[in-house]
Amino acid sequence: MKKNILFIDHHAELGGGEIALLEIIKNLDRRRFHPLAVLGDGGPLQDELGKLDAEAIVDKLPGYFRQLDRDPEKKNKLTAFIRSAFCLPIFIKNIKSVITEKNIDVVYINSIKSSLYGIPAARQTKCRIIWHLHDCLTRDFYSLWIIPLIIFLTNRADKIICVSDAVKKYFIKAGGNPNKAVVIYNGVDLERFNPNISGEFVKKQLGLSGQRIVSMIGRLESWKGQRVFIKAAKIISEKRDDIIFLIVGGPLFGFAEYEKELKTMVEQLGLKNKVLFLGFRAGPKQIYAGSDVIVHCSVKPEPFGRDIIETMACGKPVISTELGAPGEIIEDKKDGVLIKPNNPKLLANKILKLIDNPRAARILGANAREKAEEQFDIADIAGQVEELL
Ligand code: UDP
Repeated sequence: MKKNILFIDHHAELGGGEIALLEIIKNLDRRRFHPLAVLGDGGPLQDELGKLDAEAIVDKLPGYFRQLDRDPEKKNKLTAFIRSAFCLPIFIKNIKSVITEKNIDVVYINSIKSSLYGIPAARQTKCRIIWHLHDCLTRDFYSLWIIPLIIFLTNRADKIICVSDAVKKYFIKAGGNPNKAVVIYNGVDLERFNPNISGEFVKKQLGLSGQRIVSMIGRLESWKGQRVFIKAAKIISEKRDDIIFLIVGGPLFGFAEYEKELKTMVEQLGLKNKVLFLGFRAGPKQIYAGSDVIVHCSVKPEPFGRDIIETMACGKPVISTELGAPGEIIEDKKDGVLIKPNNPKLLANKILKLIDNPRAARILGANAREKAEEQFDIADIAGQVEELL
């Protein structure tokens, strides 16, 4: 008998957690599992699920709920919490209706906020609960009082999939049940992201043929470290003229002001022709292919960092800060380069070292591809998830 799996997410943007979810659904054995999703908003995730023939119901949540504890300006926080708490019974009731109508066997929580209504609904209808935890539960990201609430809810799931040892470590440290936590890394489509993609097409398209390219790929949010990247670009651009820096990604969760700030910073540093903002690009495999080096420079513990495994799958060298999961994904100087966070000078040095030593860069890239094949193949990862359903 096929199992009906209900995936729940509170929004429909394409963040790392949602891309990971899409990859899993794409690779689910459809003879055994029937996927269905309830999203807190319409958007690209809903469109992508449609392409996978997975029904996505939109149960629109109010903006103040989706932005809860995330509002960069922290305006009206208390009011938003109170209003959200009053709305929860309605969200819970809606999920319970879907569970009953669609005969759901497993509820799969894909985001913290969706757990607030997804977990009670699943518990009340006695469904199995899988929680895919894509976040480090630390004070770096959450208010002090909200972590115990998240832990209270996670511990009500049957299994918690932590996307890295780092996520598991913080989960347990915060009081999470170690017996329920399993680490399953994110996976990457090794055919789509591969070392044979030509980078010339995108370079030509961007008018950058003949230039060296260093890219940073990820959503625009201050802890992702774009400021550090820009400062490193400044240091390098003062010394030489042949390197272009690409910032790829959009301000997904209300960080439009941050994007503006970054653009102003680039202008004030006189880097307008050196640091280019490309915005969000769907499946940016061409960017990996066209880049000489990819940088990941989060200044807080990174729960995973999908861009790192995509870079590896493309056989390109990655430089990453070591905080959180990158420190366990990358073996320093073997299949990537690890650095301390918040150090533009060090980052600039490491970038130049790789740019000026293409042989070393190629070796790192080849080792990285090997590791991606061994550890991050989405077919294997989806299989590991299926075992828990
Ligand atoms: N990404 C994308 N287009 C962009 C920027 C990023 O498709 O313009 C994708 C990227 O390929 C990766 C994901 O977004 O798969 C970001 O992954 P990460 O683990 O860093 O997730 P986040 O922390 O942003 O949720």
